[in-house]
Amino acid sequence: MAKEYGGELEAARGSREDTVLHEYGLMLGLYQSQIGRLGGLLEIRDVSAPLTECVFFSVPGDRFLLPECFPGPNAHPCSLTFDKWQGIVTQLCFYSLKHTNDSSDLDLIHLNPNLKRLRLIFLNEVMGRGLEHKPLFIPTASSIPKSLLNKDGSVPKQIITPGLFQGYYGSHGHEIILFKYKDENEMCGYKVTGDVNVYANKVTVKIQLKYPVAPSKADQKCLETLKNMEPARTDAGVHKILEQPFYVPAECFEPTTPFPARCTARYHGFGQVASEWYQNPSFTPVQVVIFNNDLLGVLWLEMSLFRLYSRIKKKFTSNTLKIGTSAL
Ligand SMILES: [Zn+2]
Repeated sequence: MAKEYGGELEAARGSREDTVLHEYGLMLGLYQSQIGRLGGLLEIRDVSAPLTECVFFSVPGDRFLLPECFPGPNAHPCSLTFDKWQGIVTQLCFYSLKHTNDSSDLDLIHLNPNLKRLRLIFLNEVMGRGLEHKPLFIPTASSIPKSLLNKDGSVPKQIITPGLFQGYYGSHGHEIILFKYKDENEMCGYKVTGDVNVYANKVTVKIQLKYPVAPSKADQKCLETLKNMEPARTDAGVHKILEQPFYVPAECFEPTTPFPARCTARYHGFGQVASEWYQNPSFTPVQVVIFNNDLLGVLWLEMSLFRLYSRIKKKFTSNTLKIGTSAL
């Protein structure tokens, strides 16, 4: 998809160039369109699974004007309070009718029932006690436990640097996951956006870094064999794990997005499942496949599912004030 801008720059959204193996993949990037003497700025980007952006509020430059809820045709005043100790922004709306009448929202409601549900929950929050926006600090490579790093301090290719990823959750669509290290034994994926089964802030996947696994081609093809593999602990270090070929089990559908045929590491792990409204949550065995620093796969053994998680490469504004605790 190409998007034209009238002389204005816009930051690229979470593109996934790494997974675009299409012949047009090389065209991705910024261009200047030669439209007579006027010109234009053109961005060609991958939209196979873009982040959906929605403006929640805007703050006018004039300090005598109130902030606005859903800036647009149905913009209406709201209040924003900032807790300078905890870094929490609270948004309170006073115009329920205008808030629900946002036409652009109604278009979206027709398209997606999950989004409709989200809008109603959002309305309930923003009209009630006020919707809280908590600071989210994204850990950097410096948060990786030292014992996992190479001798020269670099990050081994068998592990990933922490950060935001997007993963596909079937009927729930794409969700945003923050992968970060708990300690040298475990990396966890926390849900920034959740669903009615496993909510936001919950762990979706745990990667057991001391339990690598390297099944043969025949073993990889058979889900039952993978399920029966006894995890074995090793303290040799992640850098000792050898690159290996990867095959999707015969029982699982291949993802529509292309992925590499080889992986740099594969680990035992756990994935969280629950019934609707987070009833009877439990952790079920998974195997996590590291393809590269920006792409990993999770094989949900009990559910016969193989899902990809790709890094969100959009550059976000970092929090100016490092106050309060991170939401995740
Ligand atoms: Zn509102």
